[in-house]
Amino acid sequence: MSGTLLNIYHRLPGWMRSSAASLHGFRLRSWRFGPETPQLIEQALERDSWTHQQWQDWQQERLAYVLHRAATCVPYYREQWARRRRNGDSASWEYLENWPELEKEDVRKSPRAFVADNCDTGRMSYAYTSGTTGTPIDLWRSRTTMRTLYALATARTRGWHGVTPRDRWAKLGGQVVTPGQQQEPPFWVWNSALNQLYMSSYHLAPNLIEHYLDALVKHRIDYLFGYTSSVFALAQEMVRLKRNDIKLKVVITEGEPLFAHHRSVIRDAFQCRVSETYGMGELVTAASECPSGTLHQWPEIGHVEVLEDNTQVGDGDFGELVCTSLLNADMPLIRYRVGDRGRLTAHAACECGRRLPSIDVVEAGSYDLLVTQDGRRILGLEDIFFKMPVRQAQIIQERLDLIRARYVPAPGFTTESARAIVRAVKARMDGVEVILEPVDDIPRGANGKFWLQVCKVPDVEIQSVLNASRAL
Ligand SMILES: [Zn+2]
Repeated sequence: MSGTLLNIYHRLPGWMRSSAASLHGFRLRSWRFGPETPQLIEQALERDSWTHQQWQDWQQERLAYVLHRAATCVPYYREQWARRRRNGDSASWEYLENWPELEKEDVRKSPRAFVADNCDTGRMSYAYTSGTTGTPIDLWRSRTTMRTLYALATARTRGWHGVTPRDRWAKLGGQVVTPGQQQEPPFWVWNSALNQLYMSSYHLAPNLIEHYLDALVKHRIDYLFGYTSSVFALAQEMVRLKRNDIKLKVVITEGEPLFAHHRSVIRDAFQCRVSETYGMGELVTAASECPSGTLHQWPEIGHVEVLEDNTQVGDGDFGELVCTSLLNADMPLIRYRVGDRGRLTAHAACECGRRLPSIDVVEAGSYDLLVTQDGRRILGLEDIFFKMPVRQAQIIQERLDLIRARYVPAPGFTTESARAIVRAVKARMDGVEVILEPVDDIPRGANGKFWLQVCKVPDVEIQSVLNASRAL
């Protein structure tokens, strides 16, 4: 949504925001679901029991198609191979190992060069990701890709846990559905097209969370989907208030790692199973957790290599995840370095009976939660750099009332861009001073991961803000 439209939307009363969200939802639904959906779901569930050999055969055939399409129809790769040929390189593009690894920065710089010739981005579904490097990347998917993806998600993320599109669900996400300074509910909109209560993850102050819990009851929500930290914040408040009036079918987390302490608090609060997911907007790999607790990879999405020092590690050993698009052949990313480490066990014997490979991911996501003076926890603030001419960005909270926005400017960065950053931070965190810090490079953290949000406010100070907010 553009800035002007968002401003108009934010001035609407709550019920009109819900109507606007529903209209938007009907549009999304037609991209995601169609007459072929039931069959696609059924086929996905059938493939859950495929053997390792069946998956290998399927992936090799699909990979051959994607590599051929990339080398001949995708400008970035076609030019890359032409350059290699001119330099006397005779390696065949039919073998994945002959392709160089791809960095996020290369895709960010010229995303359209990765879209196949016969695709019109104006007629595709657009998305973007800030990934874990703080650099937004433009992404395009065809309607077929979207419908296949959502059939997989319906089958595996939801279907494995017995929930269907008819169940009423709440999503705690990063869309700004409510103005940042708003202190009164609703902090959500009902999207009737998707049967979904979309809840802002920007308003989770301790004194406001109870309103969220009441909304889950009022809207008769069956299951919850959202950022781990946001769902966790609701669960903690449920436990603190000793409420047991919300019993869900399942809680599904996304976007951040789900640690053992998150899992146990969420499970106790909502009296249900907690299931994690793994994936990224670039659609090069995805996974979801089954009822037996295994994170199963979805081999239709992408081919995964696990590398250490550029060499394939053994089955079940940890290494860097390097992934190749299989589903989205219209914007194929070949040997894409997703920035996470993990391990893949091809011959997973899971109690659930499914034979999809299992994947363990470590160090996915690098965020601290920020905190506002009125006790709200803030995630995803790096989204403000979306569409800005910056190469990398990082938000550092120095004090409760001081935010440092560090960024590597790209050509086209102007004083108006700088003012827009300050405005965007202040819209989400009322009353802070914003220091802009243009830099040449942003160093990675000790574990080699890029930190998008860093909070330097001492824990004891955060706790006292949260307690004061609760007392209101
Ligand atoms: Zn399983």
